[in-house]
Amino acid sequence: MFDLTTRDIKFISGVGPQRAGILNKELGICSMHDLLYYFPYKYVDRSRIYQIREVDGNMPHIQLKGTILGFETFGEGRTKRLVAHFSDGTGVVDLVWFQGIKYIPGKYKLREEYIVFGKPTVFNGRINMAHPDIETPADLRLSAMGLRPYYHTTEKMKRSFLNSQALEKMIAGVMALTREPLPETLPEYLIAEHHLMPLTEALRQIHFPTNPEQLRRAEYRLKFEELFYIQLNIMRYARDRQQKYRGFVFGSVGDIFHTFYSRNLPFQLTGAQKRVLKEIRYDVGCGRQMNRLLQGDVGSGKTLVALMSMLMALDNGYQACLMAPTEILAHQHYETIRELLHGMDVRVELLTGSVKRKKREPILSGLLTGDVQILIGTHAVIEDTVHFSSLGLVVIDEQHRFGVAQRARLWGKNRQPPHVLVTTATPIPRTLAMTVYGDLDVSVIDELPPGRKPITTSHQFDNRRESLYRFIQSQIDEGRQVYIVYPLIKESEKIDLKNLEEGYMHICEEFPGCKVCKVHGKMKPAEKEEQMQRFVSGEAQIMVATTVIEVGVNVPNASVMVIENAERFGLSQLHQLRGRVGRGADQSYCILVTNYKLSEETRKRLEIMVRTNDGFEIAEADLKLRGPGDLEGTQQSGIAFDLKIAHISRDGQLMQYVREIAEKIIEADPNGERAENSLLWQQLKVLRKTNVNWASIS
Ligand code: ADP
Ligand code: MG
Repeated sequence: MFDLTTRDIKFISGVGPQRAGILNKELGICSMHDLLYYFPYKYVDRSRIYQIREVDGNMPHIQLKGTILGFETFGEGRTKRLVAHFSDGTGVVDLVWFQGIKYIPGKYKLREEYIVFGKPTVFNGRINMAHPDIETPADLRLSAMGLRPYYHTTEKMKRSFLNSQALEKMIAGVMALTREPLPETLPEYLIAEHHLMPLTEALRQIHFPTNPEQLRRAEYRLKFEELFYIQLNIMRYARDRQQKYRGFVFGSVGDIFHTFYSRNLPFQLTGAQKRVLKEIRYDVGCGRQMNRLLQGDVGSGKTLVALMSMLMALDNGYQACLMAPTEILAHQHYETIRELLHGMDVRVELLTGSVKRKKREPILSGLLTGDVQILIGTHAVIEDTVHFSSLGLVVIDEQHRFGVAQRARLWGKNRQPPHVLVTTATPIPRTLAMTVYGDLDVSVIDELPPGRKPITTSHQFDNRRESLYRFIQSQIDEGRQVYIVYPLIKESEKIDLKNLEEGYMHICEEFPGCKVCKVHGKMKPAEKEEQMQRFVSGEAQIMVATTVIEVGVNVPNASVMVIENAERFGLSQLHQLRGRVGRGADQSYCILVTNYKLSEETRKRLEIMVRTNDGFEIAEADLKLRGPGDLEGTQQSGIAFDLKIAHISRDGQLMQYVREIAEKIIEADPNGERAENSLLWQQLKVLRKTNVNWASIS
């Protein structure tokens, strides 16, 4: 058998060093193996005419022959579309146009025979073909090729005549070389048990499918393999970590915890908070090192759970630390926690980038002696100059702002890695969580503290300012406070700031009887802090701000969140912002203000926001609308996530399925000793070496 990974593509006939260089630069393709794993993004079948009754939504681009029964238009403005009902006597498909609506009905005659060519999809239970090519039967020439693959190429490639067809030819060339089967990458027993197509066959079919059925089987095999190894990697890694690192044992819940619980706790814990605390209690008591993700919607009371977990550490002679993504938030946590611990003998300190040397030194030495029991701060707490005497637990608040690498730095802060609790209000959809944070255990607070009324969300166009302002005034008259948020996008910070300043001036004019404060990211921390404080204390009734208030800030008296240019925010960001209100017992409102022209996707985003308050539903919708690469959670944690063939949003079920398979294998063969599995560990090694994604996961 020969090894394709070591065969340079320049040895394929017709390639040569120059084209090989371009492929290398543009697509990262170096070896023949890389080339075989560069999959088509679509297939086109011009070999035959399909009957409509055979057609389903999984098919490639195909041809149909029939007549148009009639035209209809639906929708208004930007959503307007033209539909032609097309039949061949075995069924009906809808041909759909979003453009050219005016001239298309004049171009084609009813009851005349046409060949239509397009990709069938299913929409509202009907088969659709959007913007199909239409020809007369006289033009029809059936291609001798079956399903034809199409590959993505770049501008640079096209300039060197490396288009889709050229790639197709090259891949066919490699295929022709592999007369013998390639080395299999999955063990025989898995292939048999799960009825998978053998590797060589799957690779051949994925590029040059004989028919849609074979293509589907090839896709399944390759997706299975891709997701399976991701899961196996995570499980293996988690297992190794468990064996290598013992966790500190917090054997008992002691005085500090009990005093807090019986004397200081200002309210009853919710059922969900209690349950999650039990889960954490078990984790930190059992000798394993805890790595837990605490998900809970905004306002669900994660801070309290974090604090009580820290008290468990203190009771067992350890220190604890809480890391927040921003100074404002660190400060607020510091204030909240100091207040919650009022009258108790616990030393809490705040450490951020702006804490000056003079104040910093006693904190650092207090950490070394163990006098400082709880440290709250920004990423300043993981700097190399910060040493603890016995750090036992780290809480990372709103972790989607923290990189995985930063998380890893914590591990060097004690002789053993401390327990880690990561909290987030940006729910990570299950499939993504299983992939990116697969090594974390997950706890969920799925219950809000009692007495909260669901926030009422509405969408308004920005030409209806008057009624909006009247509404704001009426809320202020009732003693409530109001946030008005402007977008901030890095590329155009100047324009955004101008927006904010203009908005601020405008609001000051509109509400002469109110105090208005202003916060944005370009301010000095002290100034920002002062402005925030004016709002927190209730002195100012209106806060005009950029998204710096997105995470965590807590002002229960604020009942209105106005988001200007809401079309410029992502779903999870909108949800986060909305979560700043609805924290008290009063009815709260979120008003999404946009201009008139909106894309279809934006419309959907706003609709979802108006319809639901459920963070999980929103996260799932976000994933569907944008795809995982764009999700804030993944991007900000620095995980570039791209799969070759599987889709994180569409293949969730398969992911779950292969995860269970991987779990069973690790359970049955924890030390990787069984002969039938040796291929698995060998393959994992190869993938760990070559897969950039994985470096950041594990
Ligand atoms: P988040 O989960 O978004 O971090 P917080 O921890 O900031 O939420 O809590 C939001 C608000 O709810 C705070 O004002 C907090 O004091 C309050 N809170 C937390 N737990 C409870 C509870 N069990 N009962 C009543 N109020 C609670
Ligand atoms: Mg919080």
